[in-house]
Amino acid sequence: MPMEATSKTAALSAPAREFLGRAPGRQFIGGEWLQPTDGATFQAIDPATGAPIADVAQGGPADVDRAVAAAREAFEGAWAKTSPSKRTGMIWALAEAIKANLPELAELESLDNGKPVTYAKGDMAAAVNHLRYFAGWPTKIEGETLPVSFPDAHVYTRKEPVGVCGQIIPWNYPLLMAIWKLAPVLATGCTTVLKPAEQTPLTALRLAELIADVGIPAGTVNVVTGDGSTGAAIVDHPGIDKIAFTGSTVVGREIGAKCGRQLKRVTLELGGKSPNIILPDADLDRAIKGSYAALYENTGQVCSAGSRLFVHSSLHDRVIEGLAEFAEQAKVGPGLSEDTELGPVVSAEQHERVLGYIDSGTSEGAELVTGGGVPAGNGISEGGYFVEPTLFTGVSDEMTVAREEIFGPVLVAMSFDELDEVAARANDTDYGLAAGVWTRDISSAHRLAAMIRAGNVYINNWGMGDPSAPFGGFKASGVGREKGHANLDAYLEVKTVTTRL
Ligand code: ADP
Ligand code: MG
Repeated sequence: MPMEATSKTAALSAPAREFLGRAPGRQFIGGEWLQPTDGATFQAIDPATGAPIADVAQGGPADVDRAVAAAREAFEGAWAKTSPSKRTGMIWALAEAIKANLPELAELESLDNGKPVTYAKGDMAAAVNHLRYFAGWPTKIEGETLPVSFPDAHVYTRKEPVGVCGQIIPWNYPLLMAIWKLAPVLATGCTTVLKPAEQTPLTALRLAELIADVGIPAGTVNVVTGDGSTGAAIVDHPGIDKIAFTGSTVVGREIGAKCGRQLKRVTLELGGKSPNIILPDADLDRAIKGSYAALYENTGQVCSAGSRLFVHSSLHDRVIEGLAEFAEQAKVGPGLSEDTELGPVVSAEQHERVLGYIDSGTSEGAELVTGGGVPAGNGISEGGYFVEPTLFTGVSDEMTVAREEIFGPVLVAMSFDELDEVAARANDTDYGLAAGVWTRDISSAHRLAAMIRAGNVYINNWGMGDPSAPFGGFKASGVGREKGHANLDAYLEVKTVTTRL
């Protein structure tokens, strides 16, 4: 597919440019690169300029159907015959392939998503670690022998792969989220039809090339590109046994309901409005720095962002001052500039949404401490989707900006006085993805950790993650867990075999 030569794409390295010339218009189905059945395409957009990067295939129901058939064939054929030890080798090899192509993948990710290229490199390194962790699992998925109480019997369990999976990926960490989904598929012997988000399809297509390079059998992993309608075709397809989705709570509810009706297995990793609590005895420098990163990293586009900041009233003004200073000094700019700290938001739609939330904060009476607008200068293109790092204080728990997930660089701060009070306010939300506590008092830390209804509690840090540590939500933040061995169970069925001797 020909690509538009924008100033940004001209600045890319040769491998990234070659990829753009070669791959985006095709889908990876059954080990082949296929044009979309009905020829439809959409444009990948550079969020730093608003300019098109490439034409990408808009997969339709016929493409999904082909991909499901290929995934079924591999599940029953070549992939089923691949031993656990060989699966380990292939997962490890995929990690090595990502490592070997890390600068190119990071560039493509930065171009497509807008995130600083230095941070994109960190995402790729996390993807490598994730695959290394899951590479160990294929040879360790064990059943049990059961001590039943009736005589002359031998009863055991087998853990079997759930089957063909449909995996729908978000746009905030495109490659890393694809790897979070793929790793347990490959470890358990499942197969998949994976769809990257329409805002960020590029690195999943590059990943598909690497999957072919390392010898994972054709059809094991199929990459179909397209928008929500393509995602819906995957969810609705009767040949799919399990859906894994990461994205908005609105879409997650719909997918959960559809899977319920079809009795498909489903895991959902959804939104959040996560409370971050600074207690009076916190190490203030750490707490301010950590709370800044908790929200503004990835331009606030993180499901587990620390987006509701509760500061003890004795520290409120100092914390606000410290945060405002960080926000005002932050280097906002295009992701491909090496010194950028905050890239644009991902799309025109997201840009409008975030600016709309900022307006609602102001009109509902919150106090704007800093930011609130669209930045200019410093190599910022007018067509780009930039938002100034924004901080509100004087926010009440009922305001829209305190209740809804903004998914942009907008932090809202509130003050509190008592532990029980802040726990109740922290829990007064439909969501339950993450929470943070900054304190030197271990009793308060662990009391709060137990009181808060959230899948992840961070004490004196925000978002330290590891492939071994489960991640997911309570309440409307999701169903099931990503990462760790908890994630394997979502891709396994338990079969009990009972023998009368
Ligand atoms: P956002 O609104 O922030 O873009 P979404 O939840 O809409 O987040 O998107 C996350 C992923 O879900 C994307 O890959 C998108 O294409 C896909 N998606 C959107 N709508 C649907 C749907 N109705 N069914 C299945 N997948 C969908
Ligand atoms: Mg949407």
